[in-house]
Amino acid sequence: MSNLARTKAIKHHRDERPDLDQQMTFFEALWDAQDEIAVQAAAYTPADGDATTRALDANQTLFSLVTPTVPAGAYRDAVKKVADLMVEHAGLPDDQIAGLKDADLAAAITDEALAEALDGFDVFIQAVVTKLDDERLTSPLLAYILQEAMVPFLREPATAAMAAAGKYDWMNWSSGLCPICGTPASSAIVLDEGELQGGRRWLSCPTCRAKWEYARLRCVRCGSRDMKDLEYLYDESDPGHKIHTCKKCHGYLPVAFEKDLKIIGIPEVEEVVMVRLETVAAERGFTPLGDETAERPN
Ligand SMILES: [Zn+2]
Ligand SMILES: [Zn+2]
Repeated sequence: MSNLARTKAIKHHRDERPDLDQQMTFFEALWDAQDEIAVQAAAYTPADGDATTRALDANQTLFSLVTPTVPAGAYRDAVKKVADLMVEHAGLPDDQIAGLKDADLAAAITDEALAEALDGFDVFIQAVVTKLDDERLTSPLLAYILQEAMVPFLREPATAAMAAAGKYDWMNWSSGLCPICGTPASSAIVLDEGELQGGRRWLSCPTCRAKWEYARLRCVRCGSRDMKDLEYLYDESDPGHKIHTCKKCHGYLPVAFEKDLKIIGIPEVEEVVMVRLETVAAERGFTPLGDETAERPN
């Protein structure tokens, strides 16, 4: 992803949606910080093409095939940096700000927990939550900080692992969980392929930023293809941003439509714009991951 396209997308949405100014300021600072931190990422050599294809065909994530190294010191610094940005720009409630200021996040990340983090990020988050033992620092808040701090260390390895997969047909992966790291997709972009083809939908991973193709008319959470369950929720004035909801599992996914965006869609930027629609989806009883998630790759 080029920074130029991201900068353009941010500017475009700032002009169109002045109400998002504070959010955009926070995310722009976060993404700049992640770019700076990324230079400290460890080198990563993926498996060869055959081993990569075999793993994907066997429903195995590429980070479980060859796990990236996350340098502990640099990761702890990244966590502090993200937490500081949250305190400064994220508009958090006062008690959470105070909690983050009081806490020693770096000390709560043990080498042992970090070494296992990519085998199970939920377990890692829980280890940090338990160690901090501060009710102001909730699991969702810490999960967000720990995940955003991880992004810069996984982006380049994910790109390398994707490259090793060559022209792999991601429709064979057939899952809403990231083929690289196993995280559930956070959003999708439907790329315009002209009137005849319609568009192809590419899911985006919030942790390693990988993108993989997934069927367009299918629930990304439970896999249902039943059209009576699937619906788009959106504002008619903004057809470029929609929430794909599923009545079977009550899950949803924010989806951007490139042909209606007027800019090159950048998943993390479009996600910020779609938060308001997510609130509407939540009011109607939908949750990001739904009641049941598809089988998790290891
Ligand atoms: Zn991923
Ligand atoms: Zn579903």
